[in-house]
Amino acid sequence: MILAIDGPAGAGKSTVAKLVAKELGLTFLDTGAMYRGVTLEVLRLELDPADAEACARVAASLKLEFDAQGKLHLDGRPGEPAIRSSPVTRAVSQVSAHAAVRAIVVAQQQRIAATSRGVVAEGRDTTTVVFPRAEHKFFLTASSHERARRRAHELGTPQALEQIRAEIEERDRKDSTRAVSPLVKAPDAHEIITDGKSAEEVAHALLAIVAGRRA
Ligand code: C5P
Repeated sequence: MILAIDGPAGAGKSTVAKLVAKELGLTFLDTGAMYRGVTLEVLRLELDPADAEACARVAASLKLEFDAQGKLHLDGRPGEPAIRSSPVTRAVSQVSAHAAVRAIVVAQQQRIAATSRGVVAEGRDTTTVVFPRAEHKFFLTASSHERARRRAHELGTPQALEQIRAEIEERDRKDSTRAVSPLVKAPDAHEIITDGKSAEEVAHALLAIVAGRRA
């Protein structure tokens, strides 16, 4: 079974996807981590994130693997926490906008799904491009204020709320307006607005829809 969840930054996709994957005994697939991994390597090699060819070469040569906890490893080295750092977060939308990078990363995501008994995938194009025939599709969203508040809380920097909000809005703008696989709500996805809801409540709502469809 494939369950795909898309939405903008900070909508709670990762936390919810992890809870749902655990409940259903499926593999959690964090597609954003893979673009972050490629971006980390591009920056480490001091390449230009705007250079599509250089970024695609990195994507093609880098071994991206998830461990049993769903954490990304790059050529056998742990990707966390470096893939969540500010320089990576600022550059990732540029790297992920290259069609050649996406073709390589999407093929790896489809391979991971094909070799497991099922996945809960989350990202920006998992309902539209990576798994267009997913059995269950969701679009999670929340106001940019709520999403920035959560991110600031996660990072332990409540004072940086306005800066975080500006960065999130800029990343949403880039992810939603790019030419290749922009962030859009699939027509057949259930939209869930997560303002004021805990991850457990949202996971519960998703699981109820999945159970309803199955019954
Ligand atoms: O989900 P996360 O915030 O970690 O994603 C980081 C970035 O990776 C996004 O801002 C987007 O540019 C890119 N991404 C993407 N397609 C996906 C998942 C993430 O382009 N399926």
